Amino acid sequence: MKTLVPEPVALAAAAGHRSAPYAGGKAVLATMHGKEEAIAPILRDRLGLIVSSAPDIDTDALGTFTGEIPRAGTIREAAIAKARLGMEATGLPIGLASEGSYGPHPQIPFIPGGVELMVLVDDTRAIVVSEHLIDDAPAFGHAYVVAGDELTPILDRLAFPGHALIVRPAESDNGAGHIHKGLRDRTALEHAIMSAQAQSKDGRALIQTDMRAHMNPTRMATLGRLASALAERLSTLCPACGMPGYGQVDVEIGLPCDWCGTPSLMVRHHVFGCVACPHRENRPRGDGLTKADPGHCPLCNP
Ligand SMILES: [Zn+2]
Ligand SMILES: [Zn+2]
Repeated sequence: MKTLVPEPVALAAAAGHRSAPYAGGKAVLATMHGKEEAIAPILRDRLGLIVSSAPDIDTDALGTFTGEIPRAGTIREAAIAKARLGMEATGLPIGLASEGSYGPHPQIPFIPGGVELMVLVDDTRAIVVSEHLIDDAPAFGHAYVVAGDELTPILDRLAFPGHALIVRPAESDNGAGHIHKGLRDRTALEHAIMSAQAQSKDGRALIQTDMRAHMNPTRMATLGRLASALAERLSTLCPACGMPGYGQVDVEIGLPCDWCGTPSLMVRHHVFGCVACPHRENRPRGDGLTKADPGHCPLCNP
């Protein structure tokens, strides 16, 4: 049985053939939200890749974090489409973009989580390399309020004012009503709450963290970690064909039970693969575990 389960932190690329296939290359990063601040220095230092941003691209046309325009497809497809916008605008054959998705944690109930994905589209080699990570501790949340509520504990939980907020009517027809974005000032926030609740059918305002990278330093730091993971993958060459971007592509579950050998739901192998050729290889778990604790066995511990 195979399933795509993201590992808890970054998916580490292979410790194999190392190279600098992007040294001296140029790439465009499609972002309206200052992501180059977190991404460009890392790719320059780790890969020698010179990343410029393409600020005139309207990446929001592909869908926005604040929900006015729904995003189509998977986040990987969205990131590739965004990277291609940058490549078209600049004529550069190598493009970068990232996409994030925040909500309930994908593995742990009742806590917020985020998935961040970054792609490099390289038309000189006809490859797309992506890396993703799960953010276990994002600055992400929301609250329903009315003017006069005790805001301080709510704002502390939402990491305000270090992280900017969005305010909108809690209930409005078709999402109509003015959305106040990028709020970092307490007075402006309180004005926005009064304006939003006046436009809401239930008289309440919805406060949310503004997840645009330049408004959310926690997300910006996460993008830096993701850029490091992508750099690691891009400097790792496929042992079969030499293409950059070799790394973990999947996991195989079914680690056998230590008592009875029945496959458990624990990860058995990390599956490494190439972005250009069919080469695949199973690698052992990072922790060296070869048997599952019977506590995880579907027979011994039903
Ligand atoms: Zn290959
Ligand atoms: Zn068992």
